[in-house]
Amino acid sequence: MLANSLIELDRAHLIHPVASYRGHERQGVRVLKSASGATVTEANGHQLVDGFAGLWCVNAGYGHESIIEAATKQLRELPYATGYFDLGSEPAIRLAAELAERAPGDLNRVYFTLGGSDAVDSTIRFVRYYWNAKGQPQRDQFISIQQGYHGSSTVGAGLTALPAFHAGFGLPFDWQHKIASPYPYRNPVGSDDETIIAASLAALKAKIEEIGPDRVAAFYAEPIQGSGGVIVPPKGWIKAMRDLCSHYGVLFIADEVITGFGRTGPLFACADEGIVPDMMTVAKGLTSGYVPMGAVFMADHVYDVIADGAGETAVGHGFTYSAHPVSAAVALEVLKLYEGGLLDNGVKAGKRLLEGLNTLRDHPLVGDIRGRGMLYGVELVTDKAKKTPLPPASQPARRIFDRAWENGLVIRAFPQGVLGYAPPLCCTDADIDAIVERTRQTLDQTL
Ligand code: PLP
Repeated sequence: MLANSLIELDRAHLIHPVASYRGHERQGVRVLKSASGATVTEANGHQLVDGFAGLWCVNAGYGHESIIEAATKQLRELPYATGYFDLGSEPAIRLAAELAERAPGDLNRVYFTLGGSDAVDSTIRFVRYYWNAKGQPQRDQFISIQQGYHGSSTVGAGLTALPAFHAGFGLPFDWQHKIASPYPYRNPVGSDDETIIAASLAALKAKIEEIGPDRVAAFYAEPIQGSGGVIVPPKGWIKAMRDLCSHYGVLFIADEVITGFGRTGPLFACADEGIVPDMMTVAKGLTSGYVPMGAVFMADHVYDVIADGAGETAVGHGFTYSAHPVSAAVALEVLKLYEGGLLDNGVKAGKRLLEGLNTLRDHPLVGDIRGRGMLYGVELVTDKAKKTPLPPASQPARRIFDRAWENGLVIRAFPQGVLGYAPPLCCTDADIDAIVERTRQTLDQTL
């Protein structure tokens, strides 16, 4: 089929996630045709370095034969088996066990979903079930963080605190509350670690006291806020927040949908920070984006309350494709790749990326560079001293994204003027150098 007719078919029929529908109809679709390693190729032959691993998910990189073989083998042998009731499949069981073995602390129970949004949504249902089973049904209030992203399911989107996910929808619900983001670059009270941690602790404490400590069910946090603009709290922040939740008996849910599976270096950011959440959500890197899958890790003590509360009654929460055997087979192979060298390569490539990005610090448009592992944000400003954001009216993010694309680089350009980097962990030195050089070229053209 000719590319032009594909563009017309797209325009006429395909509704794109998180797109301006009319804007997209004008702009037309960009169609990717193939990919290998960290390189993606458009239908018209244009090659780009994928500095964003698809949507921060293709952590292993593209074209791994062993992943394709694992999926093919499973498709031949058993393409579907429900995980409902007392049924199951070998890959799903093995995957749950392998993940539990690697998860922090007693996060020994794993519930599989199709992605991150339904993983977050599942935690909301599990949290409610937990408190009802514990005889505290009044604990029905949820707290999350400004600039946080927790997916776009009907209920989970309420925990998400990005304007685009609420405008026109009428969310969040009045049982979903927010505290300020731990945003060192734009914190009015200071940017040093102690100040940021103290401010978040004070905000969470005040919010819990305002709602009523016996009403708060759970607190949600990303170890690094991804879609909010790669906002990196100081080391120790998440432990402090976890401890405060424990103090109030509030469940602590870590959303590792982006940070999991090597994105910040280790398999899980929580493990690196020495904390054990009550539940933890993952997706994306779990299957490296080759097939859909997410998961909720649940601590033993949470699982036991739910299981004992239900007794012989079914816990009525499930999806037809929960614990899909093909996704599980892929995830098992991806896990092998991570531990067979990919995590190490990610750490090495991440250092090179940070060094490279740091050479852009003197650029007149660069206000801040932050991140960890293979996850970085470059915040652009028009006045460095005043930290003046790029004017939203000129749609700088859109223009920068377009220019970078023309220059052979896929990055994310967040509306607030932050460039997001999350390349595959398999990146070579040449890939990383291309990401940095093409960023410089793009910024120079934006001046
Ligand atoms: N949670 C976080 C932290 C995310 O970044 C995302 C997606 O980017 C989600 C949840 C939702 O995941 P999904 O898009 O797979 O539904």
